[in-house]
Amino acid sequence: MATIIKSAKDITSVLAQSERSIGLVTTMGALHDGHISLIKASKFDCKTTVVSIYVNPLQFGPNEDYKTYPRDLKSDLKICEENNVDYVFVPDDNEIYPGDNKENIVKPPISLASDLCGKTRINHFSGVSTVVKRLFEIVQPDYSYFGEKDLQQLYVVKWLVKEFNLPIFVRACPTVRESSGLAFSSRNLNLSAKEKEIASNLHKALVMAKKNIRSGFFNLSKSILESLIFLSKFPEIKVEYFEARDKNDFSKVDDEKKEGFYLLIAAKVGKTRLIDNVEI
Ligand code: AMP
Repeated sequence: MATIIKSAKDITSVLAQSERSIGLVTTMGALHDGHISLIKASKFDCKTTVVSIYVNPLQFGPNEDYKTYPRDLKSDLKICEENNVDYVFVPDDNEIYPGDNKENIVKPPISLASDLCGKTRINHFSGVSTVVKRLFEIVQPDYSYFGEKDLQQLYVVKWLVKEFNLPIFVRACPTVRESSGLAFSSRNLNLSAKEKEIASNLHKALVMAKKNIRSGFFNLSKSILESLIFLSKFPEIKVEYFEARDKNDFSKVDDEKKEGFYLLIAAKVGKTRLIDNVEI
Protein backbone atom coordinates (compact mmCIF):
# COMPACT_ATOMS: atom_id res chain seq x y z
CA MET A 1 0.00 0.00 0.00
CA ALA A 2 1.55 3.31 -1.10
CA THR A 3 1.56 5.88 1.69
CA ILE A 4 0.86 9.43 0.54
CA ILE A 5 2.80 12.11 2.39
CA LYS A 6 2.43 15.84 1.84
CA SER A 7 4.78 17.30 4.42
CA ALA A 8 8.57 17.48 3.97
CA LYS A 9 9.10 17.07 7.70
CA ASP A 10 6.91 13.96 7.81
CA ILE A 11 8.57 12.20 4.92
CA THR A 12 12.06 12.93 6.27
CA SER A 13 11.15 11.41 9.63
CA VAL A 14 9.30 8.41 8.15
CA LEU A 15 12.23 7.65 5.87
CA ALA A 16 14.70 7.95 8.74
CA GLN A 17 13.01 4.79 10.11
CA SER A 18 12.74 3.04 6.72
CA GLU A 19 14.82 0.21 5.43
CA ARG A 20 17.72 1.26 3.21
CA SER A 21 18.57 1.50 0.45
CA ILE A 22 16.10 4.24 -0.50
CA GLY A 23 15.39 4.98 -4.17
CA LEU A 24 13.87 8.28 -5.31
CA VAL A 25 12.01 8.83 -8.57
CA THR A 26 11.34 12.55 -9.02
CA THR A 27 8.42 13.37 -11.33
CA MET A 28 6.00 16.12 -12.25
CA GLY A 29 3.13 13.65 -12.34
CA ALA A 30 0.84 12.61 -15.21
CA LEU A 31 2.70 9.33 -14.87
CA HIS A 32 3.22 7.11 -17.90
CA ASP A 33 5.28 4.08 -18.96
CA GLY A 34 8.50 6.13 -18.92
CA HIS A 35 7.99 6.95 -15.23
CA ILE A 36 6.98 3.36 -14.52
CA SER A 37 10.30 2.10 -15.92
CA LEU A 38 12.10 4.35 -13.39
CA ILE A 39 9.91 3.03 -10.56
CA LYS A 40 10.66 -0.55 -11.64
CA ALA A 41 14.40 0.16 -11.66
CA SER A 42 14.15 1.56 -8.13
CA LYS A 43 12.08 -1.41 -6.96
CA PHE A 44 14.76 -3.70 -8.38
CA ASP A 45 17.65 -1.89 -6.66
CA CYS A 46 16.20 -0.61 -3.40
CA LYS A 47 14.32 -1.73 -0.31
CA THR A 48 12.24 1.45 -0.18
CA THR A 49 10.96 3.36 -3.21
CA VAL A 50 9.77 6.96 -3.05
CA VAL A 51 8.05 8.78 -5.93
CA SER A 52 7.78 12.55 -5.70
CA ILE A 53 5.06 14.32 -7.65
CA TYR A 54 5.60 18.06 -7.86
CA VAL A 55 5.14 20.46 -10.77
CA ASN A 56 7.99 22.82 -10.01
CA PRO A 57 7.06 26.41 -10.92
CA LEU A 58 10.71 27.45 -10.85
CA GLN A 59 11.57 25.48 -13.96
CA PHE A 60 8.90 27.09 -16.14
CA GLY A 61 9.44 30.42 -17.90
CA PRO A 62 6.73 33.12 -17.81
CA ASN A 63 5.43 32.16 -21.27
CA GLU A 64 5.67 28.41 -20.78
CA ASP A 65 3.07 25.76 -20.02
CA TYR A 66 3.06 25.71 -16.18
CA LYS A 67 -0.71 26.27 -16.08
CA THR A 68 -1.58 23.76 -18.81
CA TYR A 69 0.95 21.12 -17.73
CA PRO A 70 -1.06 17.86 -17.38
CA ARG A 71 -2.05 17.00 -13.81
CA ASP A 72 -3.88 13.81 -12.79
CA LEU A 73 -3.14 12.88 -9.19
CA LYS A 74 -5.83 10.21 -8.99
CA SER A 75 -4.36 8.23 -11.88
CA ASP A 76 -0.80 8.86 -10.57
CA LEU A 77 -1.64 7.37 -7.18
CA LYS A 78 -3.24 4.35 -8.85
CA ILE A 79 -0.06 3.78 -10.89
CA CYS A 80 2.09 4.11 -7.76
CA GLU A 81 -0.17 1.65 -5.96
CA GLU A 82 -0.05 -0.86 -8.84
CA ASN A 83 3.74 -0.67 -8.92
CA ASN A 84 4.18 -1.13 -5.17
CA VAL A 85 5.69 2.27 -4.50
CA ASP A 86 6.25 2.64 -0.75
CA TYR A 87 5.85 6.41 -0.38
CA VAL A 88 4.38 9.03 -2.69
CA PHE A 89 5.58 12.49 -1.73
CA VAL A 90 3.13 15.14 -2.96
CA PRO A 91 4.32 18.45 -1.53
CA ASP A 92 2.85 21.87 -2.20
CA ASP A 93 4.99 24.91 -3.02
CA ASN A 94 5.31 25.85 0.65
CA GLU A 95 6.91 22.51 1.54
CA ILE A 96 9.50 22.85 -1.19
CA TYR A 97 10.10 26.59 -0.94
CA PRO A 98 9.08 27.44 2.65
CA GLY A 99 8.04 31.05 3.17
CA ASP A 100 8.43 31.58 -0.57
CA ASN A 101 12.16 31.45 0.07
CA LYS A 102 13.74 31.08 -3.32
CA GLU A 103 17.12 32.37 -2.20
CA ASN A 104 18.86 29.04 -2.37
CA ILE A 105 18.77 28.87 -6.14
CA VAL A 106 21.30 26.39 -7.52
CA LYS A 107 22.96 27.52 -10.74
CA PRO A 108 24.62 24.91 -12.96
CA PRO A 109 27.61 26.06 -15.04
CA ILE A 110 26.61 28.34 -17.93
CA SER A 111 28.12 25.92 -20.46
CA LEU A 112 25.48 23.38 -19.42
CA ALA A 113 22.57 25.58 -18.29
CA SER A 114 22.59 27.91 -21.31
CA ASP A 115 23.12 25.28 -23.96
CA LEU A 116 20.37 23.59 -26.06
CA CYS A 117 17.09 23.75 -24.03
CA GLY A 118 18.69 26.42 -21.82
CA LYS A 119 18.95 28.80 -24.78
CA THR A 120 15.20 29.28 -24.92
CA ARG A 121 14.26 28.11 -21.40
CA ILE A 122 16.38 30.69 -19.61
CA ASN A 123 16.15 29.67 -15.92
CA HIS A 124 14.94 26.13 -16.56
CA PHE A 125 18.02 24.23 -15.41
CA SER A 126 18.56 26.34 -12.30
CA GLY A 127 14.90 25.56 -11.50
CA VAL A 128 15.56 21.85 -12.03
CA SER A 129 18.78 21.87 -9.96
CA THR A 130 17.13 23.80 -7.14
CA VAL A 131 14.15 21.46 -6.82
CA VAL A 132 16.17 18.26 -7.23
CA LYS A 133 18.64 19.40 -4.55
CA ARG A 134 15.74 20.23 -2.24
CA LEU A 135 14.08 16.83 -2.88
CA PHE A 136 17.43 15.10 -2.28
CA GLU A 137 17.73 16.95 1.05
CA ILE A 138 14.23 15.97 2.11
CA VAL A 139 14.31 12.30 1.00
CA GLN A 140 18.04 11.61 1.39
CA PRO A 141 17.94 8.74 -1.08
CA ASP A 142 20.79 6.33 -1.80
CA TYR A 143 19.74 6.01 -5.43
CA SER A 144 17.91 8.38 -7.75
CA TYR A 145 16.42 7.56 -11.14
CA PHE A 146 16.37 9.86 -14.16
CA GLY A 147 15.31 9.21 -17.74
CA GLU A 148 17.66 9.59 -20.68
CA LYS A 149 14.72 11.19 -22.50
CA ASP A 150 15.58 14.41 -20.65
CA LEU A 151 19.25 14.02 -21.43
CA GLN A 152 20.46 17.53 -20.65
CA GLN A 153 18.63 17.35 -17.32
CA LEU A 154 20.45 14.08 -16.59
CA TYR A 155 23.82 15.80 -17.14
CA VAL A 156 22.68 18.68 -14.90
CA VAL A 157 21.69 16.25 -12.12
CA LYS A 158 25.03 14.45 -12.44
CA TRP A 159 26.75 17.83 -12.14
CA LEU A 160 24.63 18.65 -9.06
CA VAL A 161 25.58 15.45 -7.24
CA LYS A 162 29.28 15.99 -7.98
CA GLU A 163 29.25 19.71 -7.15
CA PHE A 164 27.66 19.21 -3.72
CA ASN A 165 29.35 15.89 -3.03
CA LEU A 166 26.02 14.16 -2.45
CA PRO A 167 26.19 10.47 -1.54
CA ILE A 168 23.54 9.60 -4.14
CA PHE A 169 23.92 7.30 -7.10
CA VAL A 170 22.23 8.68 -10.23
CA ARG A 171 20.92 5.88 -12.38
CA ALA A 172 20.15 6.77 -16.00
CA CYS A 173 17.20 4.84 -17.44
CA PRO A 174 16.62 4.33 -21.17
CA THR A 175 13.88 6.24 -23.00
CA VAL A 176 10.60 4.35 -23.20
CA ARG A 177 8.69 4.83 -26.46
CA GLU A 178 5.27 4.20 -27.90
CA SER A 179 5.16 1.70 -30.80
CA SER A 180 5.33 4.67 -33.22
CA GLY A 181 8.72 5.60 -31.76
CA LEU A 182 7.32 8.67 -29.99
CA ALA A 183 8.94 9.00 -26.56
CA PHE A 184 6.43 8.85 -23.70
CA SER A 185 6.00 12.30 -22.21
CA SER A 186 3.35 13.84 -19.97
CA ARG A 187 3.09 16.61 -22.56
CA ASN A 188 1.87 14.06 -25.15
CA LEU A 189 -1.50 14.41 -23.39
CA ASN A 190 -1.69 17.91 -24.85
CA LEU A 191 -1.27 16.61 -28.43
CA SER A 192 -4.25 15.86 -30.67
CA ALA A 193 -4.37 12.39 -32.28
CA LYS A 194 -3.06 13.88 -35.53
CA GLU A 195 -0.29 15.81 -33.76
CA LYS A 196 0.74 12.65 -31.95
CA GLU A 197 1.13 10.83 -35.23
CA ILE A 198 3.13 13.72 -36.67
CA ALA A 199 5.28 13.91 -33.53
CA SER A 200 6.55 10.36 -34.12
CA ASN A 201 8.60 11.81 -36.99
CA LEU A 202 10.97 13.41 -34.48
CA HIS A 203 12.24 9.97 -33.54
CA LYS A 204 12.24 8.90 -37.21
CA ALA A 205 14.45 11.90 -38.02
CA LEU A 206 16.87 10.99 -35.22
CA VAL A 207 17.06 7.36 -36.37
CA MET A 208 17.56 8.48 -39.97
CA ALA A 209 20.51 10.67 -38.96
CA LYS A 210 21.93 7.85 -36.85
CA LYS A 211 21.86 5.46 -39.82
CA ASN A 212 23.49 8.03 -42.11
CA ILE A 213 26.27 8.70 -39.61
CA ARG A 214 26.92 5.09 -38.66
CA SER A 215 27.00 3.87 -42.26
CA GLY A 216 29.42 6.64 -43.16
CA PHE A 217 26.99 7.75 -45.86
CA PHE A 218 27.06 11.36 -44.66
CA ASN A 219 29.12 13.21 -42.05
CA LEU A 220 27.42 14.61 -38.93
CA SER A 221 26.27 17.99 -40.23
CA LYS A 222 25.06 16.60 -43.57
CA SER A 223 23.14 13.87 -41.71
CA ILE A 224 21.46 16.46 -39.51
CA LEU A 225 20.64 18.54 -42.57
CA GLU A 226 19.03 15.55 -44.31
CA SER A 227 16.88 14.89 -41.24
CA LEU A 228 15.88 18.55 -41.05
CA ILE A 229 14.84 18.42 -44.71
CA PHE A 230 12.71 15.37 -43.89
CA LEU A 231 11.08 17.20 -40.94
CA SER A 232 10.43 20.32 -43.03
CA LYS A 233 7.75 18.30 -44.88
CA PHE A 234 5.58 18.60 -41.76
CA PRO A 235 4.39 22.20 -41.33
CA GLU A 236 3.12 21.39 -37.80
CA ILE A 237 6.73 20.70 -36.67
CA LYS A 238 8.91 23.69 -35.77
CA VAL A 239 12.41 22.50 -34.89
CA GLU A 240 14.14 24.51 -32.16
CA TYR A 241 17.44 22.64 -32.32
CA PHE A 242 18.89 19.43 -33.76
CA GLU A 243 22.41 19.00 -32.43
CA ALA A 244 25.07 16.56 -31.32
CA ARG A 245 26.75 16.46 -27.91
CA ASP A 246 29.60 14.31 -26.64
CA LYS A 247 28.72 11.46 -24.31
CA ASN A 248 31.59 12.21 -21.93
CA ASP A 249 31.23 15.90 -21.21
CA PHE A 250 28.24 17.09 -23.26
CA SER A 251 30.55 19.26 -25.39
CA LYS A 252 30.11 19.91 -29.13
CA VAL A 253 31.10 17.12 -31.47
CA ASP A 254 33.59 16.91 -34.31
CA ASP A 255 31.88 16.59 -37.72
CA GLU A 256 33.60 13.30 -38.58
CA LYS A 257 32.85 11.56 -35.28
CA LYS A 258 30.83 8.34 -35.73
CA GLU A 259 30.16 7.20 -32.16
CA GLY A 260 30.26 8.18 -28.50
CA PHE A 261 27.77 11.02 -28.74
CA TYR A 262 24.08 11.86 -28.77
CA LEU A 263 21.83 13.55 -31.28
CA LEU A 264 19.28 15.73 -29.53
CA ILE A 265 16.19 17.42 -30.87
CA ALA A 266 13.70 19.93 -29.48
CA ALA A 267 10.67 20.89 -31.53
CA LYS A 268 7.21 22.27 -31.18
CA VAL A 269 4.42 20.16 -32.60
CA GLY A 270 1.53 22.59 -32.73
CA LYS A 271 1.72 24.33 -29.34
CA THR A 272 3.46 21.46 -27.53
CA ARG A 273 7.22 21.48 -27.06
CA LEU A 274 8.81 18.02 -27.21
CA ILE A 275 12.38 16.76 -26.81
CA ASP A 276 14.06 13.50 -27.74
CA ASN A 277 17.50 12.06 -28.43
CA VAL A 278 19.34 8.97 -29.64
CA GLU A 279 22.77 7.68 -28.74
CA ILE A 280 25.21 7.25 -31.61
P1 AMP B 1 8.86 14.43 -15.66
O1 AMP B 1 7.68 14.00 -14.87
O2 AMP B 1 8.58 14.69 -17.10
O3 AMP B 1 9.62 15.54 -14.98
O4 AMP B 1 9.85 13.18 -15.67
C1 AMP B 1 10.25 12.55 -14.50
C2 AMP B 1 11.34 11.58 -14.83
O5 AMP B 1 10.87 10.62 -15.76
C3 AMP B 1 12.56 12.25 -15.46
O6 AMP B 1 13.75 11.66 -14.96
C4 AMP B 1 12.38 11.94 -16.92
O7 AMP B 1 13.58 11.92 -17.66
C5 AMP B 1 11.76 10.56 -16.86
N1 AMP B 1 11.05 10.26 -18.11
C6 AMP B 1 10.11 11.01 -18.71
N2 AMP B 1 9.73 10.45 -19.87
C7 AMP B 1 10.45 9.31 -20.01
C8 AMP B 1 10.51 8.29 -21.01
N3 AMP B 1 9.76 8.31 -22.10
N4 AMP B 1 11.37 7.27 -20.81
C9 AMP B 1 12.15 7.22 -19.71
N5 AMP B 1 12.14 8.16 -18.73
C10 AMP B 1 11.30 9.19 -18.88
